Amino acid sequence: MSLTFEDARQRVDAYIGQFKEGYFPPLLMLARLTEETGEVARVLAHQNGKTPKPGEDPGDLELELADLLFVMLCMANERGISLERGFERMMDKVERRDANRWTRKDEAPTHD
Ligand SMILES: [Mg+2]
Repeated sequence: MSLTFEDARQRVDAYIGQFKEGYFPPLLMLARLTEETGEVARVLAHQNGKTPKPGEDPGDLELELADLLFVMLCMANERGISLERGFERMMDKVERRDANRWTRKDEAPTHD
């Protein structure tokens, strides 16, 4: 499967476009983004030592990250901005700014 940003953008827009309510207003979407971020945190907590409450599902990180992506796509669509262009700009920034920030795998280890 090869899904492009544009495919995902259009699929979300087609889904939301079926309904009279349309996209949530921006601050409500921000609340959804925060809620989904908390769900990612809960799954990671369960995977790293926190025991789920009785009857609580340990959660699915893949699905929770996709929930976040859905809300981000909704937010970008509602605002008329491009996540693909944003991603490209962000990667260009980190690839330039952080080009020498981390230890490269082919780099000899330093001994201090
Ligand atoms: Mg979720």
